[in-house]
Amino acid sequence: MLDHSALIEGLPEPRMLFGDHWQGTGAESPFTMVDPSTGKAVVEVPMAGPAEVDQAVEAAAGAAAGWRAVPPHRRRDMLWRLGELVLRDRERFGQIAAVEQGLPGGSQYARFCAEWVKYYAGWAEKIHGSISPSYPVDALAYVLKEPFGVVAVITPFNESLAALGMKAAPALASGNCIVIKPPEQTPVQTVLFAELCLEAGIPAGVVNVVTGGPAAGEALVSHPKVGKVTFTGGLPTARAILRSAAANLTPVVSELGGKSANIVFADGDWKAGAALSALNACVNLAGQGCMFPTRLLVEGSIHDQVVKEVVDLVTRARIGDPAERGIQMGPVISAESAERIHGIIGRARGESRLVTGGDRLGGDLADGYFIEPTVFDDVDPGSELAQNEVFGPVLAISTFESEHGAVDVANGTSAGLAAYVFTDDLRRAHRMARELQAGSIGINGMSTVPPTLPFGGYKGSGSGREGGIEGLLEFLQTKSVFVPLSPPASTGP
Ligand code: NAD
Repeated sequence: MLDHSALIEGLPEPRMLFGDHWQGTGAESPFTMVDPSTGKAVVEVPMAGPAEVDQAVEAAAGAAAGWRAVPPHRRRDMLWRLGELVLRDRERFGQIAAVEQGLPGGSQYARFCAEWVKYYAGWAEKIHGSISPSYPVDALAYVLKEPFGVVAVITPFNESLAALGMKAAPALASGNCIVIKPPEQTPVQTVLFAELCLEAGIPAGVVNVVTGGPAAGEALVSHPKVGKVTFTGGLPTARAILRSAAANLTPVVSELGGKSANIVFADGDWKAGAALSALNACVNLAGQGCMFPTRLLVEGSIHDQVVKEVVDLVTRARIGDPAERGIQMGPVISAESAERIHGIIGRARGESRLVTGGDRLGGDLADGYFIEPTVFDDVDPGSELAQNEVFGPVLAISTFESEHGAVDVANGTSAGLAAYVFTDDLRRAHRMARELQAGSIGINGMSTVPPTLPFGGYKGSGSGREGGIEGLLEFLQTKSVFVPLSPPASTGP
């Protein structure tokens, strides 16, 4: 049995933030946070009701004019300081992530978050409008870029800190105040992030937090003073959010799940292709990553060697206590999630060939939600396993015989977050980059999601982008100003 009692003692208390007021209780029954590595209750998370959501939004709305008026270079400095503080506390973030999320090596996500915060700190002083030509009336016609006021930031359990770098940082850099609703399972990294926002000198009210579940999220999204919603999570939740946002026609950025294909050709570095899917679909984050290459499409002539390589890699993965250094894989997030994943594995056993894995892990890990890295071969591209996001350590392998056939299979799901191609044929690589229906394409490797590069989905993987100037523009609205320079033309008879 793993023992996290020392880590749990040092955990910041899950609580809400309204302006400068911290609150450790909520109107709804609290949510019991469970350590996924041990299955043991850790702490009670306060759950917000509509009144607390309202309090958070009012605090943000009250701070909006002041934050907008802060000179851009001061906003830049505060955000830069925030990035430095996230980096300073990276080990602490890592310890929290080990307990609340079962995540090994969590400090690297703090580094990721800090990079995004610093990148958008730099944008704070570079936001500008433009001047447009005008005809037939000679006029000074110009365009202003302005913040929405209050932005709702709703984040998923698997990357609650990384998502703050991708969402909160550009929203703040562009002059918005925010209300963050972290996932109920993993709220504590967000609480520490909010503490650091205050330490960085960001004025009270600019960053607010409501802990809660779907009801709090719904109240937030449908609040009339929320000008924009940015959401990362699953497709059914996105549908519910779009319905709630419809009440006030509030625009929504949605970053959703994927079922990304990794197409490995015989002419390419097939070992690297096998490793990409083995380590990401089955090991990293216990498979709970949106852009992971969970469908491995292998050219028929190299099928056997690729499958052997995948099995070698996943069976050598170091699975265990996420708080220990060197561990590659921890548990999935909850008992419900483990049960759901086992259901998918059970149904896939009847349809595809199970090559390795499929069971829960025992011994010291028996009380946690640890699932063996699981690989299925001969997977029918139309099957449940090939079509639906598992969000657990399960890889689906299929073969293809032609480039066209591979593209058809890769594009044959409702998701479109990412796709990967391993080939040494330059022309084929770029041809496929054009043909694959996904927001991110990796040629002979996977993107590290740098803050400079727009990230987001095609089709059912969402709309809107994070990263680069596109990610900044999501949080700015456009105003046109028209000043005629000649007297108005006579409109008389
Ligand atoms: P989820 O959809 O269950 O929850 C996400 C967030 O939405 C949580 O904070 C939750 O409390 C909130 N929520 C739930 N119902 C709501 C409602 N009716 N109104 C408002 N908010 C509501 O997702 P999850 O299980 O936390 O995360 C996993 C999913 O997120 C996967 O599908 C994964 O692929 C996706 N994801 C996508 C990306 C990306 O960038 N594309 C990144 C990470 C995760």
